[in-house]
Order: sequence, then structure tokens, then C-alpha cells
Amino acid sequence: MGLIVQKYGGSSVADAASIKRVAKRIAEAKRAGDDVVVVVSAMGDTTDELIELANQITPLPPSREMDILLTAGERISMSLLAMAIANLGVEAQSFTGQQAGVLTDDVHGRARIIDVRASRIRQALDGGAVAIVAGFQGVNEQTNDVTTLGRGGSDTTAVALAAALRADVCEIYTDVDGVFSADPRIVPSARKLDRITYEEMLDMAASGAKVLMLRCVEYARRNQVPIHVRSSFSGHVGTLVTDEVVEGESMEQPIISGVAHDRSEAKVTVVGVPDVPGTAAQIFEVVAAADVNIDMIVQNVSAAKTGLTDISFTLPAADGQKATAALAVAQDRIGFESVQYDDTIGKLSLIGAGMKSHPGVSAKLFGALRDAGINIEMISTSEIRVSVITRSDQLDDAVRAVHTAFGLDSSEGEAVVYGGTGR
Ligand code: ADP
Ligand code: ASP
Ligand code: MG
Repeated sequence: MGLIVQKYGGSSVADAASIKRVAKRIAEAKRAGDDVVVVVSAMGDTTDELIELANQITPLPPSREMDILLTAGERISMSLLAMAIANLGVEAQSFTGQQAGVLTDDVHGRARIIDVRASRIRQALDGGAVAIVAGFQGVNEQTNDVTTLGRGGSDTTAVALAAALRADVCEIYTDVDGVFSADPRIVPSARKLDRITYEEMLDMAASGAKVLMLRCVEYARRNQVPIHVRSSFSGHVGTLVTDEVVEGESMEQPIISGVAHDRSEAKVTVVGVPDVPGTAAQIFEVVAAADVNIDMIVQNVSAAKTGLTDISFTLPAADGQKATAALAVAQDRIGFESVQYDDTIGKLSLIGAGMKSHPGVSAKLFGALRDAGINIEMISTSEIRVSVITRSDQLDDAVRAVHTAFGLDSSEGEAVVYGGTGR
């Protein structure tokens, strides 16, 4: 007998009928003899709707109250799912993150899991029940306040529980059949990957492929938890995220595993920056002090006549106001001319462990974008990734062009998107 952790995303439990359908799947797994722990997300777009509701009350909701509000979404789905499973004659008990022993730091809105003390879950399993756990939430031990783990955080809850309970596998059930070579909502010819390494999945997630939350992949790699990403709407085998090499399988890594895209960033340009040592440090100290993470940075060559240069960087659009406001305060002290803000950008990233040892990947990427008439505004690279910034409204075309240029299009028909709104 084994232990499986199954996580069902919002689109898999969007309404009563979906909850009943998922309950059947869980009951089957339990009847097959395994211990089953289920992590569940809020129904459909509940989290987005709660955020919108809060914003109708106040433009800057206090983060503690926001967390209490958002954890309500997962409480609704966990209890309904437990009822649906019980209706099928299988015992089930639901638990909040706090009850399940998910302990976090005190950073509201993006708390990190510090420890999982899953004794109540163990008890429920030992008593023969399926344990349902509300994803995306935990509690801070010092303050006893509930916290949330950041958008998509139920994935991380699932992996953390799988690690704590030493589960055989963590199954992430979603609305597509696995991890694809690109988002199937944009590239219908994307191909499903049978396997992907943690390293590649980390870069895919960090580059915007929200099928798995970045932190969940980090957690899984650190604890060597194998993840099986698959659809709750079909019986197909999905994608295995693991570093284990299967005997008989080629050891060679694919040059390119996928193309990711991200529309959640914005670009800040600091114009007319004095080109003397120390100004870049001053600018980014201001941004760091505002608690904003930055992604790409480009500094132009300064004009010889003026001795001034421009520095552009990208950041999460959600932090745009914070960063530009902080820079405005520091403008006179640092001595730059102005700040420009642009949230109509998109980021395309090409990811593949094999590119480490293959020259010409960037050249081919830039060639594909040129042929599609798409202008590149910024570039950054890592060992296994090349990212470019384009206009937001050209991003989908860019992803499709690059996907085709690298021969990633599937010959097995279109990828299926079973549900969800893609929000
Ligand atoms: P859930 O509600 O189950 O957590 P998400 O919406 O968070 O689901 O993640 C699933 C979605 O991720 C898919 O519907 C798809 O549009 C998107 N996605 C982006 N990139 C990829 C990719 N490379 N492979 C599969 N899905 C992807
Ligand atoms: N409900 C949360 C969100 O929408 C967490 C999750 O679904 O993983 O981000
Ligand atoms: Mg998700």
C-alpha cells in the first residue's frame, strides 16, 4: 500500500458537478488500496473574485485581512469535496492549512512554508479516511495569524505535504494533460512532454508557465518529490517531473524543451541617468528597499555629449506603482531626468538543458522573431534559457513562431484544454 498526494486546481472543482466528478476519482484511488491525501484549490476563479471584491472596498487592503479573506476560498472547496466523497461511501475529513500543520513565516500574501507537522493528517489516514487539505494557506506560529503562499500556492502545499508524509508521488491535477512544450491555450500544436527535469521545470515556471508554481518545483527538487502533472478531466498519463533516469531511455537532454511566456511584467526606464560609478547601485537600492524584485536589466551606452544614459528594467506589473513611487522620491538625490513606465510588454523564454552544449540557439531564436516581424526590446540569458521582451500584443505570435522554428510542433493533433478560463 502506498501514499499518494493529489492536488486539484480551481478549474477541476469549478462547480458542484466537477466536485462530484473529482470525488469519484479520489474514491477510486482510495478503494484501490492507497492512502490518499488531497489538496484542493478554491473553486474556479473564486480567488480572483475575492481580490476584486476587496478592491471594491479599498484600493490597498491590509495584507493580514486579505489573507483571511482569500483562505475562505479553499475552505469552501475542501468541505464540499469531503461531503462529495462521503456521499460515495468513503470516509473523508477536511482540514484548513492550520489544522493540517502547515507552518509559515509571517509574510502575508507570499508566505514561505517553514515546517509541516502533519500529525492530524496521519491520524485521519490511520483511521481509514481520505484527508482533504485546503491548499495555499498556512499559519504563522508566533502570531497565530493565517497566511497565504502566493498565487498558485496550492501546488506548493501539495508538494510540502508529499515531502512531509514521504508520499510515493505528488499528482497535480489540472485542466490540461500535462506540461507541454508551450501553453496549449496559445499553441494548439504544443506537444506533451513525458518527462522534464526539475531544472527545466524551474525555468519554465520562473518564465511564466503557471502550470506549476515556481516554489513548488523548488520544494520538490530540494526534497526529491516526484511530481506527476496530469488532467483531472481525462485518464491520460501526464508529465513526470523528476531527475531520475529511466533505464533504456536516452540520457541526452533535448536541446529545447519548451517556450514559456509571461504577460505579468512591466518595464521601467530611468531616463537621463548620470553615467558615473554608483548610480546603478543607488537606483536598485531604492527599488530593493521598496521590496520589489526585478528581472531583466538593460543599460544603454551613454551619449558622449551629455554623459547621461538610460537604464531599463522589468518587474512584476503588480509592483509597478510601488517602484515608480519610490524612484520619484529619490529623483533629486540620484539626479536622473525622469521615469517611464510601460506595462504593455510580454516576455518570451526558450528553455532547454541541451542548449548548454549547442551553439546557435539564440541566433535561431532571433531569426524566427525577425521572420515574424517582431521587434526585440530586451534580452537576457542563463545557461539553459534565453528570454526576450516584445510588445504584449505580439507575444502570442512570437511564441507560435519560435515554437515552430525549433521544430516543437506536435504531429499528434491539437492539445486539449479541458476547462478553466486561463485567468
Ligand atoms: P490550476 O487551476 O489547475 O492550478 P493553472 O491555471 O494554474 O491550473 O495552470 C494550468 C494552466 O497552465 C493551463 O490551463 C495552461 O493554460 C497553462 N500553461 C502555461 N504554460 C503551460 C505549459 N507549458 N504546459 C501546460 N500548461 C501551461
Ligand atoms: N486559489 C489560489 C489561487 O488562485 C491558490 C491556487 O489555486 O493554487 O492562486
Ligand atoms: Mg495553478
